[in-house]
Amino acid sequence: MSVKSQGELKDKTLVVVFGASGDLARKMTFPSLFGLFKDGFLPPKTHIVGYARSDLERKDFEDRLTGGLDMEKESKDKVEEFKKISSYVKGAYDEDDAFKNLEKELQKMADKDFDGESNRVYYLAVPPSQFTSLADKLHKNNYKGTSNRLVIEKPFGKDSDSAKEMMDAITKDGWKQEEVYRIDHFIGDEMARSIMQLRFANELLIDSLFNKDKVSAVLIELKETFGCEGRGGYFDEFGIIRDVLQNHSMQLLTFLAMDKPESLEEDHIRDEKVKVLQSIKPIKNDEAVMGQYTGNGDKPGYLDDESVENKESKTATFGEVVLRIDNDRWSGVPFILKAGKAIEEDALRIVIQFKQAENSLYPSTDPNELVIELYEKKVYFKVNSKKPTMDGGIVRPEMVLDYETKFDGLDAPQPYEFVIREVLKGNQKSFVRQDELEEEWRIFTPLLHYSEGKESARPVEYKYGSNGPKESQEFEKKLGFVVT
Ligand code: NDP
Repeated sequence: MSVKSQGELKDKTLVVVFGASGDLARKMTFPSLFGLFKDGFLPPKTHIVGYARSDLERKDFEDRLTGGLDMEKESKDKVEEFKKISSYVKGAYDEDDAFKNLEKELQKMADKDFDGESNRVYYLAVPPSQFTSLADKLHKNNYKGTSNRLVIEKPFGKDSDSAKEMMDAITKDGWKQEEVYRIDHFIGDEMARSIMQLRFANELLIDSLFNKDKVSAVLIELKETFGCEGRGGYFDEFGIIRDVLQNHSMQLLTFLAMDKPESLEEDHIRDEKVKVLQSIKPIKNDEAVMGQYTGNGDKPGYLDDESVENKESKTATFGEVVLRIDNDRWSGVPFILKAGKAIEEDALRIVIQFKQAENSLYPSTDPNELVIELYEKKVYFKVNSKKPTMDGGIVRPEMVLDYETKFDGLDAPQPYEFVIREVLKGNQKSFVRQDELEEEWRIFTPLLHYSEGKESARPVEYKYGSNGPKESQEFEKKLGFVVT
């Protein structure tokens, strides 16, 4: 499924952020727009417009605009300049009059600063329930740019049917596929992006190991020390599978497992990612561990949290599943995806565990591993080595590529800076293609329906701050993953 890319926006651009009063806008969207502005990556004439229903005075809006910045580190002058190119418009998300008013404001800015012309980027940092209504109103009233782009955030739907319904509604409203940018910010993560080079710029050394003859298991894990405090409203509706596994973890899996694309052209890469997904059967209900955290005396359990209204909620805050890729390269290798909140450490980690050689002279050594630490920005091999003592013995130290030390003063772009820049450049390759999304949902929908149905058991319990449910370790062991 090929999607044409739009061209780069080189000038005169209005970036309208819907949900400007919200969490994502403050934590990610505005700081990333500032980062791009500061480094000269926004088109030369750009205006940022925050839009929401809240009654925000100029000062309140500026607090939102800069609330996510580390003011100790930023240049005050740059922050002031950024404020000057930003403004706030208050309005509803479902009334044509509000969008007509927005259009008047946008046109005023374009007339004043851009000789009447403008490109438009509409960034929906609002709950998914608002996407289709906003897309409809925007197309009807504000599709007036030389170029128009609509940016939406995961989760894209709740299962196969609702995702399709949402995307059909958006394109029925008139938006073209190439104008819709579905953000999964893991695609913009520096370390996730570097998997391509790690494999294919070291083809004989590293990619040649990526297959069923050498690899025994792959683990992709995202652990967060924080629970759902205060965000239970959102989380209880979606749960850990829709929040992480179905989208972020699957992006990492496809980068790891795809075959070598014909070229670096965007559709060649995305075609290979989709082929991997097409080789995966839906997850079996009995091949998953679903967990929910309880209090530990200090921190509240999920159900004790004030923001979780349903005190009998079965929403999982921990999820672990196994995917099997049924193709020549990977058949028989379990890909274990694990994600949990309120866990003992913050980590985003990929572990590729290797088989032992037959007839090894050292048969009782731990398996070799290639580990990618995405948060710590490290890649290392765990290799067996002689202990440097008189009597030897085997130890398993790490051969490390530490990006922070190697690239002194590392200034890698933040994931959201990267993806927003890709929207401005019109590079669809950095976004989730519709067939990719459909395949992701196909794999997860049966498990979601089952676990949310009446017949399924409650999620197993684990304590806030622990290493997750004990069932998780048993699950990994059964799949042949060696915890060392
Ligand atoms: P919020 O809940 O903070 O909502 C953003 C804004 O939308 C609010 O300030 C509010 O603005 C408006 N809003 C909230 N609820 C409703 C509602 N029921 N009906 C209409 N408007 C509403 O969301 P986030 O900022 O956390 O997330 C926005 C999007 O980004 C979501 O799709 C989320 O899944 C996604 N996302 C969020 C991440 C995060 O870290 N927060 C990370 C990755 C993705 P007002 O009332 O002023 O109009």
